[in-house]
Amino acid sequence: MEQLDRKPDVGMSGPLFVAVGVDGVYARTGLFEQVVESLSTCISQRREPGTEVLRFPPVMSRAQLERSGYHHNFPHLLGCVSCLEGDEATLRTLANRPDWPEHLSASGLVLAPAACYPSYPLAAARGFVPPEGLRFDVASYCFRHEATHELGRLQSFQMREFVCIGKPETVLAFRKRWIVKGQELANLLGLNHRLVPASDPFFGRAGRLAALSQLEQALKFEMLIPVRSEEDPTACMSFNYHLDHFSTVWDLKSEGGEPIHSGCVAFGIDRLALALFSTHGMEPASWPRTVREALALSACSPISPHS
Ligand code: 5GP
Ligand code: ZN
Repeated sequence: MEQLDRKPDVGMSGPLFVAVGVDGVYARTGLFEQVVESLSTCISQRREPGTEVLRFPPVMSRAQLERSGYHHNFPHLLGCVSCLEGDEATLRTLANRPDWPEHLSASGLVLAPAACYPSYPLAAARGFVPPEGLRFDVASYCFRHEATHELGRLQSFQMREFVCIGKPETVLAFRKRWIVKGQELANLLGLNHRLVPASDPFFGRAGRLAALSQLEQALKFEMLIPVRSEEDPTACMSFNYHLDHFSTVWDLKSEGGEPIHSGCVAFGIDRLALALFSTHGMEPASWPRTVREALALSACSPISPHS
């Protein structure tokens, strides 16, 4: 695979991102977004038949997230929507106080921490899971209250996921197919990649045990691709098997009483776009022809930072 002599600067200020005053939160330039859109189309082309497409907003029901146990497992990452409540006079008084944030109260919304969470209650509301299982293609902006904001660790980022709910063998076969498809996609895009067993960043001491058990049971794999450096590649896709976690929480059942499991494959769209720039350089017009073709980036319309 052809490699650049020197990693291009895909830093957080410059042709890809524009600072908006908060670490880990950036405006995306036209140059970056065009690659994001091409990547999204490329992923859509690989969608399996019988997959229902849903696009979620960046907020979701707090009650649903609580029922999923997220606030126990990842309280350090959760962001909640808080609002001022009261009549006009109260709101005016509160808004004039320097300590007005102290008077916010939690609303029924949280910021979506992953795109797939609303899929499970939505499936449960439809009754029995059919024998062939259910598949969703979902996406949303996600928020995680990250402790650090290095390149590729954004507080607010775009996640695309395929979700499968069904018999254990259906979900495992789905994940196996997507591991192959994910590797094929990375090859096509000329991205160096490595698949590794992984765990989620569960909170606290009990969380470390949960992470170990996740590793032991091979419930999560991540695809690592160089973004910041070759030596320390970044997780750009994940392939997850939840066992019966969500089906138990949401009482997802098959008509015949067979166990129902779930799994998801997640694409970190911003990280994948960054990986493309980092690997092939800042000028998509000069990316390898095969990569341009895969992304349908036409040679006659070079993308300029200001287009
Ligand atoms: P997971 O749910 O496996 O932690 O995340 C799914 C995918 O979302 C990851 O493989 C990664 O590509 C992306 N992702 C997770 N956290 C971040 C983050 O802090 N910033 C960005 N840009 N992407 C993230
Ligand atoms: Zn998911």
